[in-house]
Amino acid sequence: MELRARAATLAVLALLAAGCADLPGSVGPSPAPSHPPYDPVPADYQAVEDLLADRATAALQGDEAAFLATVDPRDRKLLDQQRTIFTNLQELPLKSFAYQVKQSDRAPDEVRNDGVLFSPQVVEVAQLEQAHRASVANATDMTFVRHDGGWVVGRDRAAPREKYSRPWFGGPVTAAVGRSVVVVTEQDGPTSADELLERVSEARTEIKKKLETVWRAEEREVPLLVDATYNGRPPGDTFDGDDGAAAVTYWVPAAGRRPRTSTSALAGAVIKDNPVATNRLATDERTLRHEMSHVYGPALVPTWVNEGLAEYLSGCESNICGEDERRDQLLTHERAIPNDDEWGDDGAIDYAISHAAVSWLIDDNGGLERFLAFCNDFYLHLPSGAENLHEGTGKALKQSYGITEKQLVDGTWSWFEDLPED
Ligand SMILES: [Zn+2]
Repeated sequence: MELRARAATLAVLALLAAGCADLPGSVGPSPAPSHPPYDPVPADYQAVEDLLADRATAALQGDEAAFLATVDPRDRKLLDQQRTIFTNLQELPLKSFAYQVKQSDRAPDEVRNDGVLFSPQVVEVAQLEQAHRASVANATDMTFVRHDGGWVVGRDRAAPREKYSRPWFGGPVTAAVGRSVVVVTEQDGPTSADELLERVSEARTEIKKKLETVWRAEEREVPLLVDATYNGRPPGDTFDGDDGAAAVTYWVPAAGRRPRTSTSALAGAVIKDNPVATNRLATDERTLRHEMSHVYGPALVPTWVNEGLAEYLSGCESNICGEDERRDQLLTHERAIPNDDEWGDDGAIDYAISHAAVSWLIDDNGGLERFLAFCNDFYLHLPSGAENLHEGTGKALKQSYGITEKQLVDGTWSWFEDLPED
């Protein structure tokens, strides 16, 4: 991930949020819809399963009328939202699309119209051609309402889940499909999906070539979804705060498989834009290359190696990636390599120190190939019982470079000293 969301953007968002308050003179409250208590029976689960099977078929066949027939026709806002989702799905190379209905005790969401409510747990299972090597399960937050003797969708919200990638759920998008990659952008965004796909392909070729000697468990191409939309959810709190990430990269598990048991349990990688960052993937080459480095870079290394290498490869070898103004701050900062456990506590400084440390190792100590050999061997030198990967830094430096961590720190700060002054 990368730091550089701008305070200015957040200020604008705060203003926008403030603008959402009810204005005086707006329409008064309408009577609350009536939802008598209801205990669902097995036939209700079956009915919703059938409804959602029709809905999935409609999405796959491009039948808008059939798709919208699964939605409460009394709710115009809901129909608009669902029409957008349907249109977005048509943009995407859907290989499969289905829903699974499970029993659950969820309390039904509030819906706008009368009728008894029903909230089984619904999982959307989708596979995009080129972006997923297996289908991916996405949690949904759907509530059904009984209308005219049958169940229809009464409300459909984004589920509050982490590492969640449904770029089709939200505002209008466009997509472009390449070899092992799908790019999704805002329909009215700064860059078209085709244009972004071209830049993604170029960045991928370049970064892959530089990282050719990184050890990986399998040789297959990583299927990639580049989500440059405002839709979906990032992992955890990665996009929060002034120092929130510009974008994040993560892997999504194949449906029904436990993640991280093996690489084949992963359906693909996702690079997801931060909706509030100004340096978005669609316009910022550095962010794109930084995130691409996470897709093809070494996995079993500490955060300073991972992020420092991503900064190094993002295309600012001889500068400190827009952090020049921090030179004085960096020179007087506590001299230490940031630890995995406290990563990010010190904001952009952690990235700058890691970037400098990696730059010093590569530029002054034997080049990129030697650094990647250090990365490949890192795990082998990890002391047993280590609680995080950074605890192996000292030993790995000694084995691969014949230097101490203190020497790395001295080299890092000498690199800061060589930075041009403002
Ligand atoms: Zn990063």
